[in-house]
Amino acid sequence: MTKRLSESLEVAHASAPPMIRCSRCKHALSKVTEDWKTAALVRERAVSAAVPLMRASKRFSLREFACPRCLTLLDTEIVFTKVRRIQTGGSR
Ligand SMILES: [Zn+2]
Repeated sequence: MTKRLSESLEVAHASAPPMIRCSRCKHALSKVTEDWKTAALVRERAVSAAVPLMRASKRFSLREFACPRCLTLLDTEIVFTKVRRIQTGGSR
């Protein structure tokens, strides 16, 4: 059984523990209790690359997360430049 998290991510409940995986190639990224983004490929670039009408700002960056196997774009986020991403979730 799978549950869709987004257009490109899903949870596979058949495995133990349940895993978050790429819905295109089924590559397992992490346990559901972990941050899947730490297993993804990450590219950071200017926000104007995605939003051409937005003036170039050095304060913000566009961060793109891709599947390490099939390179499908999994998620994006806009972050303050030079600020490290905070770990979310995960087991303790
Ligand atoms: Zn993939």
